Amino acid sequence: MTLPPRVVVLAAPSGGGKTTIARELVTRHPGLFGYSVSATTRKARPGERDGAAYHFLTQDEFLRRRDAGEFLEWAPYAGELYGTLRSEVERVLASGRHVVLDVEVQGARQVRKAYPRPASVVTFVIPPSPRVLIERLRKRRTETEAELSRRIDIAIREVETARRDIGDVYDSVLVNDDLDTAVREVIELVQGRDVSPHQPHDTANLLSAFVRQLRTEAAQLSQSTGRSR
Ligand code: ADP
Ligand code: 5GP
Repeated sequence: MTLPPRVVVLAAPSGGGKTTIARELVTRHPGLFGYSVSATTRKARPGERDGAAYHFLTQDEFLRRRDAGEFLEWAPYAGELYGTLRSEVERVLASGRHVVLDVEVQGARQVRKAYPRPASVVTFVIPPSPRVLIERLRKRRTETEAELSRRIDIAIREVETARRDIGDVYDSVLVNDDLDTAVREVIELVQGRDVSPHQPHDTANLLSAFVRQLRTEAAQLSQSTGRSR
């Protein structure tokens, strides 16, 4: 590898596709990328193995390890705690590979601070439209309709946060339409080529439009699930 290994952060609203892209990067290029397995207090979904998808911890264990300074970053999300273990990041970097992190927006900001440019590359991933986001979440079948509605509410705040953080935290916004293209764009970004076709104000407009449409979709969802907002 010509460049020193970097910390590659994929942030996205739930359903954006960051886990899928991260998995593809590591599966297709195992000599180039390694995955940082996060810790979480949430319950494992069917098929998720402890130590592979996440390190599943109790709340007490998570807090103990947090207080011992074991996390590079951590954040609450939908009533659970999530965090990146320093040991995971260091393990992959020490092997000479780029380390891929899949985190929500508060975590992305913390990692950017800990690993300023060019040690990290931080990208915000969105699907082609809010409708596709919801369709992909539904198809994943990992949340109930009420949980899905909650994740959409969080997604609105996350996309708003990313819009404010463009340039400061994020190097690019990646529209995850075709998976192969998305994976290629991340690789090009990590290798130092700016693949974002958007200027900062275009990116801001893109995210503003996304939030507007997502609000409309969310209102329809909460009507159908009977949730009050
Ligand atoms: P996140 O980790 O951001 O919550 P996931 O990676 O779990 O998102 O993706 C959400 C769903 O969308 C998954 O079912 C995944 O298979 C699907 N998905 C992700 N990227 C694409 C894509 N480019 N085209 C079609 N489906 C996708
Ligand atoms: P999920 O429950 O869908 O696996 O993850 C919920 C959210 O937590 C997603 O946005 C995911 O990216 C984020 N997440 C996963 N691991 C971490 C982590 O280590 N740190 C932070 N800050 N967020 C994480």
